Formats: sequence, C-alpha cells, structure tokens
Amino acid sequence: MASRQRALEEVNIHGLNLTQALSTYSEGIVRQSSLLLLGLVERLETEGSAPAQIERLRTLVSRQQPLMPQLSGVTIYDREGRWLMSSNRTVPVGANSSDRAYFIHHRDDPSREPFIGLPIRSRANQEWVITISRRFNDASGAFAGVVAVTLGVENFLRLFGQIDVGQEGAIGLSHTDGSLLVRYPFREQDMGRNFSKSPIYAQYLVDQSVGTASFTSSLDGVERLYAFRKNDRLPLVTTVAVGKHEVLAAWQLEALLSLVVVAGLLGLTGTIGWMLIRDIRRRTAVEAELRVTQQQLLDSNQQLERLALNDALTGLANRRCFDETLAQEVLRAQREGTSLALLMIDIDYFKLYNDTYGHLAGDACLREVGHVLQACVRRPGDLVARYGGEEIGVILPNTDREGATEVARQMLERLSQRDIPHQSSPFGRVTVSIGISAVPGAQLQRWQAVIDAADQALYSAKGAGRSQIACA
Ligand code: GH3
Ligand code: MG
Ligand code: MG
Repeated sequence: MASRQRALEEVNIHGLNLTQALSTYSEGIVRQSSLLLLGLVERLETEGSAPAQIERLRTLVSRQQPLMPQLSGVTIYDREGRWLMSSNRTVPVGANSSDRAYFIHHRDDPSREPFIGLPIRSRANQEWVITISRRFNDASGAFAGVVAVTLGVENFLRLFGQIDVGQEGAIGLSHTDGSLLVRYPFREQDMGRNFSKSPIYAQYLVDQSVGTASFTSSLDGVERLYAFRKNDRLPLVTTVAVGKHEVLAAWQLEALLSLVVVAGLLGLTGTIGWMLIRDIRRRTAVEAELRVTQQQLLDSNQQLERLALNDALTGLANRRCFDETLAQEVLRAQREGTSLALLMIDIDYFKLYNDTYGHLAGDACLREVGHVLQACVRRPGDLVARYGGEEIGVILPNTDREGATEVARQMLERLSQRDIPHQSSPFGRVTVSIGISAVPGAQLQRWQAVIDAADQALYSAKGAGRSQIACA
C-alpha cells in the first residue's frame, strides 16, 4: 500500500509540474498576442482606419507573423463588424463578423482588456481557432471596431501531443468558467464545451488554484488522476489527467512479484518449521519409547536378580545365595567377634516318601517343609536356603549354641504339629534331622569348616535315630 501511495504521489507531482510548464507556455502565447493587439489598437486609435493606414498595418503584421508561429492570423473589424483587414487573405466582399461572440463582447463592454474567446471554426480556412481580441475606440472614445488574433488549436495540439500521458490520459486548456479551449487528444464534440459541472470546477477550483484530484469521468467512466492549475494572471486553467489503472499497472506488477516472493519464502519457512516440528515430535516419541523399554529392562533385571537368588521349587534362598551369605557372615562374625550358628537339615526317609507317594508329592512335601522351617526364623539377618536335594541350610548370625538349639527344637516341634503323613517312616509322619554348628567369632576359621562341622553333627543325628538335633 505504501508503494502504491508513492506511485500515485509521483504521478501527481509529475502532473503538477506539467501543468506549470503548459500554463507558462499558454500564458506566453496569450501575452504575445495581447502585446501585438496593443500595438495595433494604439495605431488604429492614433492614425485612424483609413485604407492607407490599414495597408501599413498589414505590412507590419506580415513582418511580425513569422516571429509568432502559433499565430494563424490577424483580422480588423469596423464598428459594424465588417472586415477591414485580414493578414492571410484579401478581404472577401461583404464579409461580416458582427455575430461572433468576441465582437458582441467588445461592442457591448467598454473594457479595454483583451478577451479570450471560445474556439470557433475559422471562416477563412475552416480550422479550429481561439481568438484573442481587443476593442479600439474613435477620437470621442466611442466603439470603433475590434482587432482579433486567431491562434490555431492545431498548434497547441502539436505541443500537447508530444507529452506522454498514456492511452487514457488527456491534457486540457480551459477558460476559468469551465469552457474548453483545447483538449488533447482532440475530439470535435468537446470544442467549446463547458465543464463547469465537473468536480474540478465545481469542487476543487472553488477554494484552491493548484491541486490534484482523483475521480471517475462521467463521460467515459474511466477513473483518472487530475492535476490542475489556474493561471495567476490570465483566466486560464491547465489540466493534466492520466488513467489511474494505467499508472498503477507497473506498481501492480511489482506488488504481484513481491507477493509471490514473500509467499514463496513464507511457504519455505513454514515447510522447514513443519519438518522441524515433525522431527522433534518423532524424537520425543522415540525417547518416550526408549524410557519405557529402559524401565522394562530394569524390571526384567530385578526379576532376574530375584530368580538368581531364589530356589524355584521351594521359594527359599538357593545354594548360591546360601554360599555368598555364609561367606559374608563368617567374615562379619570374625570382624565383630560375634558367634555364628549354622543348621544343616535333612528330611528323614525321603527316598521312601518319593517311592510311596511319587515324585510330585515329594516336591510338594519339600515345599511344605521349607515353609514350616522358614516360619521358625524371625530375625532379618537369618537365612533359610535349599542347600541341595532335600537338604536345607539355615544361617543364624550373632547366635550361640543355645539360641541355635532353641531354633532347631522349634523346627522339630512345628513340623510335628504340622503332621505331614509318611506311612513308610517309623515315625508315621515327615520328620527332619538337624546338625548344629555354633562357633564364637574368635574361633571361626574358613566357612567350609563351619559346613563340615554342621554336616558332621547332622550325620550324628541321623546315626542316633533321626528326627533329632545334634551339636558339633
Ligand atoms: P535319610 O533318612 O538317611 O536321609 O534317608 P533318605 O531317603 O532321605 O536318604 P537321602 O537323604 O540320601 O535321600 C535323598 C533322596 O531325596 C534322593 C531323592 O530321591 C530325594 N530327593 C532329593 N531331591 C529331591 C527333590 O527335589 N524332589 C523330590 N521329590 N525328591 C528329592
Ligand atoms: Mg539327604
Ligand atoms: Mg534324607
């Protein structure tokens, strides 16, 4: 919109400059004509209009005429309108111009000022001409006749035609009352027409003598930009008009190109942005997936760890866990000087149990015994583990022989209460034998020695009849 405004402003400035030049040009022609008329009037009034005087004037005019190329001719009329002299031709017999507007004006108006008449067709050669005329008086001051200079419209058109105002443009020279004197391009029907109703005269020229306007012509419906200028000294108005659509065509093309370029850049930026966003979203999704996978992995690892330390059949700690815990507890007992107790437990006549009830029942029995034994230890540091087959090892840290014996006794008692039937056993139910090894920290050696001692005690318990406790 700013560049459009600038384009229009440029056209307006250009138009105003043009009106200035044309106005000065027109003023110059009218002034030259007036000057010529003034000399002729002066002579007519001092020397009279006798044929000899008229002949001298003709000579004078014919000398001046080549200096004024715009000048078509000079004609002198007497008080009745009869032709006294014509610079271009011999006066036709009976030629009379008392009906012309300029003659009537001077006859009826005592003013000595020059009069600019509307364009008329010359009676001499049928060309369109504008007349500049002055009145001359006789010795008593009464109206004696008119001297008129005719300016060919063609001369103005030749100059106006050299100025480029486009296909829809126009250049006009008018009287301040709105009467058209010259218009380029030339149109027969416009000659002498009055445009006082057009906005330029009705609206703009009312309170300003120079300016620009934009409106749609009522004649042809074309919107034009007008620059107009009223001459400071003469009753003349110069107008330059250009088609608005025409002068904005270049701007439109430029604006369209800008639009295409900006739209292209916008599209490109948008596409890159969209691709970036898509990429970020994809990455976020992948990261979220990765986090889930990571969590799953952690869960699996935890489960694996649990599985690695537990016995699948009984749910008790497994042999690995038992070995590691025992090694640690032996070291701790040595360090802290506390007593460490170990119970080695073996189910009695279990081979027979399997033989009697089947292997699956044997497994169930093993599980059941595991539960019962597990329930007998309560301290957080205690560990009940499946040592192998149907043997169970119990680590009791910080426990002496009495404490361990107490735990073992409770195991036998609980198992007896549980009363799992075993018809092939002399006891009629499932029983266990327990070997105890309890060593004060100071006397502890390697952990294998502890196991050996407990094994030894277990062997003794078996040997002594089973379902009992033996201490190393
Ligand atoms: P003892 O009183 O001398 O201990 O006699 P026992 O029959 O229990 O002898 P031993 O301890 O040597 O028997 C081990 C038997 O335990 C061998 C096997 O049939 C059984 N056994 C070992 N592990 C399992 C197991 O996981 N499931 C089942 N059902 N039986 C097992
Ligand atoms: Mg055994
Ligand atoms: Mg056994």
